[in-house]
Amino acid sequence: MSRVWNFSAGPAVLPEEVLCQAQEELLDWHGAGCGVMEMSHRGKEFTSIIEQAEADLRELMGIPANYRVLFLQGGATLQFAQIPMNLLNGRSADYIVTGSWSKKALKEAMRFGNVRCAATTENSAFTRLPEAEEVRLDPQAAYLHVCTNETIHGVEVSDDRLARTDVPLVADMSSHILSRPVDVSKYALIYAGAQKNIGPSGVTLVIIRDDLVGRAPGNIPSVMDYAVMAEHGSMLNTPPTFGIYFAGLVFQWLKRQGGVVGIERINVEKAESLYHCIDNSGGFYRNPVDKACRSRMNVPFTLLRPELDATFLAEAKAAGLAGLKGHKSVGGMRASIYNAMPLAGVQALVAFMNDFAKKHA
Ligand SMILES: *Cc1c(COP(=O)(O)O)cnc(C)c1O
Repeated sequence: MSRVWNFSAGPAVLPEEVLCQAQEELLDWHGAGCGVMEMSHRGKEFTSIIEQAEADLRELMGIPANYRVLFLQGGATLQFAQIPMNLLNGRSADYIVTGSWSKKALKEAMRFGNVRCAATTENSAFTRLPEAEEVRLDPQAAYLHVCTNETIHGVEVSDDRLARTDVPLVADMSSHILSRPVDVSKYALIYAGAQKNIGPSGVTLVIIRDDLVGRAPGNIPSVMDYAVMAEHGSMLNTPPTFGIYFAGLVFQWLKRQGGVVGIERINVEKAESLYHCIDNSGGFYRNPVDKACRSRMNVPFTLLRPELDATFLAEAKAAGLAGLKGHKSVGGMRASIYNAMPLAGVQALVAFMNDFAKKHA
């Protein structure tokens, strides 16, 4: 067996230690005589798994007691609809558009009511965050939606600049949740698809403040009503049991890394070494994002000579570096360096990039 350094944007690399643990427990979980995929979600074994996962997540993120943790399905994309379906109730909502994902969230919400674009940086090709004076907020809005890490454009909100609002703040944190400390109390709702920084695809995490639960009109499907799902402990119907179990193993792994503070230290080192390589390549590589909001998780970069793109990808693959092709809307390359990407993987990428630049200068 030989595993590559996997820079895929998602589904993405998972901690090898956790994969091995899941493999070991696949046929017989803790003496249950069967694996997690084969057991009832109502049994005491799975109940202990989901309760432990929630407790560990609460500890890792410091989630206050007046927030509910939901393990849902449908991906972040379903949240683009579920959020307005639950929270609009005939009112308006504001969206700050900082990249492809928040743009999609706004577009989907438009199907459900009156929502506004409060600011967009599309005219800057999504390479920066809006200045305070560019953001026109509606104080009557039902909520303000932001995406705190734009996976495609590599733009990250690293402070609370977008959180300075009196309306409930809703954040798509799909691609950087658990990569750094976050003050959950500043947000009314945080959501994330699992397949970037949590576990396998199929689980969507929603962390929602109590006062936002129970606002949905009566005519939405019950599986999409936060209140119904909260009341049933995310188990109105069969939840994605294996994904929740796996996410729980990742939470325990994160605790062993020193929690979000410990993993942040490594994430900073990884991101700094990669951006340093790009910025010191004499223009051979380029990242167009404003340095103040460069993502620590998703690093897009282009080659000065795009005719070398195919050679770069082929030689990278031969060197055991996979998943580097950039998103078609941005072009070039993208290295996603989530929590589970070890520092050694980024060091291998940087060494390859330096060699490649020298060879093709
Ligand atoms: C990947 C991603 C999504 C879409 O997630 P799905 O689970 O495929 O619906 C939404 N927002 C962000 C920020 C993402 O990175």
